[in-house]
Amino acid sequence: MLSGTTWFTRRTLHQALFLGSFTLLSACNDAPTAPNAASQPLVIEGKTMGTFYRVSLAGVDPQEEASLREAITAQLAKDDGEISTYKPHSVLSRFNQYTGNEPQPVSADMADLVVCALRIGALTKGAMDITVGPLVNLWGFGPEKQPVKEPGQQQIDQAKAQTGLQHLTVIHKAEGQWLQKDLPGLYVDLSTVGEGYATDNLARLMERRGIRNYLVSVGGAVVSRGYNGQGKPWRVAIQKPTDRENAVQAIVDLQGHGISTSGSYRNYYEVDGKRFSHIIDPATGRPITHKLVSATVISPTATEADGWDTGLMVLGTEKALALAKQHGLAVYLISKEGDRFKTYMSPQFQAFLVNP
Ligand code: FAD
Repeated sequence: MLSGTTWFTRRTLHQALFLGSFTLLSACNDAPTAPNAASQPLVIEGKTMGTFYRVSLAGVDPQEEASLREAITAQLAKDDGEISTYKPHSVLSRFNQYTGNEPQPVSADMADLVVCALRIGALTKGAMDITVGPLVNLWGFGPEKQPVKEPGQQQIDQAKAQTGLQHLTVIHKAEGQWLQKDLPGLYVDLSTVGEGYATDNLARLMERRGIRNYLVSVGGAVVSRGYNGQGKPWRVAIQKPTDRENAVQAIVDLQGHGISTSGSYRNYYEVDGKRFSHIIDPATGRPITHKLVSATVISPTATEADGWDTGLMVLGTEKALALAKQHGLAVYLISKEGDRFKTYMSPQFQAFLVNP
């Protein structure tokens, strides 16, 4: 067990990243300095977006906890109020409910998030597709409850006809930003990038508060910078895709990047003995069925890592590795082959690995 490692679980438990301690040669110019006195990090955690968040801070006065918790809660509420499909009056839900094709105003942050998701969607050739919401909901992984039986092909075709990245446009002008749909039933689901986005926003909040030694996470996305209370590296470990608690698969130093894992082995349900995962292949309109069970990506931001991990899960091992090679991605894939797990890693990911 890593020193200072805590077992971090999320609502669906489909991923768990061990959060320990971590040194960061941060990407920013003001390299952080280790906190002068060895101390336990200040940990602020709670529920958000149907999962959990956790903020670990080194060298911060515990007296600051109340005001930090207030600022964290406000930031998460802002993100939730913008991009949740579980809140009927969020900015995104109102856009999804709107059936016209007039541009709808959104914040600059939300416009940037959608641009990032559309870019990764294009680079994965539509495997990661934030317009896949009607299919996510049809298969019971959205705010609606789960179906009691497998949807029929006609229902799948109808839902699929309401999707496609080409039907969503982001308009950026000096005076503001807008989203525009050209399909009345277009329903955008940002769950695939929401946790990474919320994690990056918490990291920016720490920077604004002048905090340089932190590890923040929302769901399966993590960003860290600087040193932990013992002046040692924050370390992040990836869990083996098994139900066995605390099974470490690999340990990394993020070096100022973001990490996110998407998996098909925890967030699923079974109907008539068939298992359906929450990762939908937009090309078939059905949950993925191949052997890739977990994709972890390290990127400059947690948002990008969170977007890429789902796209790679849809593509499956071979195509995911080819895409990682084409775009120089740091990826770590776990495939279930027979009753064993096989791991595949891009050379870029290797650079982040540390020996336990
Ligand atoms: P990832 O594995 O990163 O992505 C899978 C998710 O993305 C799927 O659940 C689906 O929504 C979507 N998806 C599936 N296939 C594709 C594809 N091919 N391309 C693009 N997207 C795809 N959950 C609750 O139960 N209650 C809540 O109140 C709640 N509030 C939320 C608020 C926000 C702002 C967000 C972003 C999510 C919220 N969620 C809520 C959902 C929950 O937090 C997770 O987003 C969900 O469980 C998926 O997380 P994940 O990391 O497994 O997703």
